[in-house]
Order: sequence, then structure tokens, then C-alpha cells
Amino acid sequence: MPQLSRRIGRAKPSAIMVIAEKAKRLKAEGRDVISFSIGVPNFLPGEHVYQAVREALDNDSGQYGSNRGADAMLDAFLGHLEGLGLTGYTKANLATGVGAKQVLYNLAEALLDDGDTIAFPTPYWTSYLDIAEIVDAKVELLPCPPEQDYKLTPAQLDAALAKKPRVLLFNNPSNPTGMVYTRDEISALADVIAKYPDTWVITDDIYNKMVFDGVGYHNFVHARPELRDRVIFVDSLSKTYGMPGWRVGFMAGPEEVARAVVTLNSNHITSLPEMTSAAAAAALAGPQDVPEAKCAEFQAKRDQVMDVLASIEGVVCPRPQGAFYVFPDVSCAFGRTHGPSGKAIGNDVELCSVLLEEKGVACVPGSAFGEPRSLRISYTCPTPQLMPGMERIREFFNELS
Ligand code: PMP
Repeated sequence: MPQLSRRIGRAKPSAIMVIAEKAKRLKAEGRDVISFSIGVPNFLPGEHVYQAVREALDNDSGQYGSNRGADAMLDAFLGHLEGLGLTGYTKANLATGVGAKQVLYNLAEALLDDGDTIAFPTPYWTSYLDIAEIVDAKVELLPCPPEQDYKLTPAQLDAALAKKPRVLLFNNPSNPTGMVYTRDEISALADVIAKYPDTWVITDDIYNKMVFDGVGYHNFVHARPELRDRVIFVDSLSKTYGMPGWRVGFMAGPEEVARAVVTLNSNHITSLPEMTSAAAAAALAGPQDVPEAKCAEFQAKRDQVMDVLASIEGVVCPRPQGAFYVFPDVSCAFGRTHGPSGKAIGNDVELCSVLLEEKGVACVPGSAFGEPRSLRISYTCPTPQLMPGMERIREFFNELS
């Protein structure tokens, strides 16, 4: 048989999917499984989104669309940017893709040659590593352990940018930690970025509407508008609008970067579908009550989850202020056994596996995100499952010997 490319040999199936599949299998066997594993928002957008799609169907052109994105959708995205305080962009600064994932993949292709370095903080969203590996970039990981609240410091950033990576990839609010950078923290990091003009900066900020406690969403461009020359803001409908299956992602950045992504679109996908684009325009420009209500609901769930974690001896969890994840340091369990089952827990993968088998709770091992001391809990499950799932986690830790 002929060989597959070396490139595909470097791509691995997602570790999150492996746990999700195992949870599904146990469920199919009749086990009572509560899943905290997949990062899906578990709500649907408002009726106005579906109405817009029905109208688009009635007026279907049946044609290919624009490589950049449908005009109405781009206008709605410009309005959304203004709402975030990101002003001064025109359609020439924008591009779209089949979810933020494809936008990020296109950006990697557009900005990185073989062997160029892309730097990003650890813990990182799993696909960053895979995308970098597929495009044959060198990865520089910037470790941000729980002791520094999983956040990048200006000194760390300075040391990393002094090595002139081609790209810095930054994620705020963070998946998997839920941490959100304050205005002052963003401003201090922006001052460092300003010193190093050779590095592109991608801000993957797709959870920007899921921010709690009034901390607000801040971007390097807010702190230093001149960084618009090098900062590429990435957004998506998936998480904040409850539309992961619609597959719509955006970028706003320098015109030549947007043009490069549009060129890649013209060769990869041609355009997003007409119905999807109508849905996206309606979601962005229409009433915001659903995302706002969900944000309040997630904040309340964050509080409940944190209360349980705080009551477990040895578990340490920096308090997240956004997205819908918590990322506790559970290394206190390593080297112990789960009393009732006698199963040994050597690391995060074994912990998640025993937790799933013995308590029917699915979480994702932190090593999937480059931090093997922790695990990720995604708390978007139906509300009646949340506290029973958390109680099982507490029980599990109490049963360790
Ligand atoms: N960035 C981050 C930080 C994410 O968590 C995700 C989805 N899990 C994505 C990008 C990709 O989102 P999309 O569904 O728009 O492809």
C-alpha cells in the first residue's frame, strides 16, 4: 500500500474524544454516567436565529458564496467587534472559516513556514499542539502552573518573545482553565508585545462573552491600539451563542492576514453555506438575551463547582472567571489508591479512568492540555446532573487511601 504523508503521522486523535467515547460506551452498557468531559455549551440559540434560517431557505440562491464571508454576516461581526470595544475594522480586516478551529488552522498555514516557532502558554487548548505539528512548526511552550493561576507573566512573555517566535498564540478566557486576564494584566503583556515587532499575535478569545464577576473582556488592542498591525483576534459562535454545530468562526486583523485566509478559503472551502451565514448574522446582530442569560447561569454553576472543590482536602483550584471550565490541581491523589476498588492512581490519566469506572464521572486528564497535575471539568451538563456529579467527585477523593 502507498504511504500516508509524514504530516498526517504527526496528527493525533483528540484526547478529549477518547474519554468522551469511553463515557459513551459505558452509558451504552447501561451505566449511569455524568459527563464533564466535552466542552459543548448545551444550549440552543434564540428563535430569531431559526427564523433567519427559514427566511434564507425561502430565498435560497443556490450559489457559491463569498470566500471572505457573506456581507450581512461580516457587517454583523463588525457590529459585534464594536460591542467588544474593538473599533476601526472594516470588512477588509475580516475573514471567516468553518469554526474558529479552521480559522486557526488557516492562520497557521498563512503565518508559519516549516520550522518556524509558535509560542503558547501551557495549559493550552489541545488542538494548538496538533495544528502546529501538522504545519511542521516548532512549538515553544510557556509553562503557567497553578501557582501562578495558570496565567502568563510579563517576564515570561519577555523571555519568550526575545527569542523572536514567528507567532504568539494567546487564549483568553482560557480553555481549559477558565482563567480571564484583567485589564491591568493585559496591559502589562501588551507593553511587552510592543517591544517585539517581529512576532504575530493570535488572540483566540472565543469565550469573550462568557466572562464573570464583572471583570470584562480585554484584548491587547484595547491596551495598545497600534498593535492592530500584528494582533489577530479570533472568535466563534460555538460557545457563547450555543452554536458549535453551525461551524462559524471569524478573524479580525491586518488586511494582508485576512486576505491570506480568504485565499486559503478559496482553495479549501470556497465559502460558508448561505443558511449558516444567515444564522450567524442573526445571532451576532439580534437580541443577546440568550448568551447573557447563559453567562449568568454559568457563573452560578462555577460557584457551585468551586464550593465542592474547596471542600476536598488537597485539591487546589485557581478560581476561574470565564468560559465553562474549572481546572483543579489533583496531584494530591497521585501515588494513592482508591480504597473501595483498590485501584492505583499514578497520574492524571489513571485518575480520570478510575473516576469514570468507579463513579461514572467523565473528566479530561490535564495532560491533554499539557498540565498533568490537573484535570478539566466542563460544567455545562444539564443542571440536575451538576451537583450529583460533583458529589461523586468529592466521594471519590474521600475514598482515597
Ligand atoms: N479555541 C478554543 C480555545 C476552543 O476551546 C475551541 C473549541 N473547543 C476552539 C478554538 C474551536 O472552536 P470552533 O468550534 O469555533 O471551531
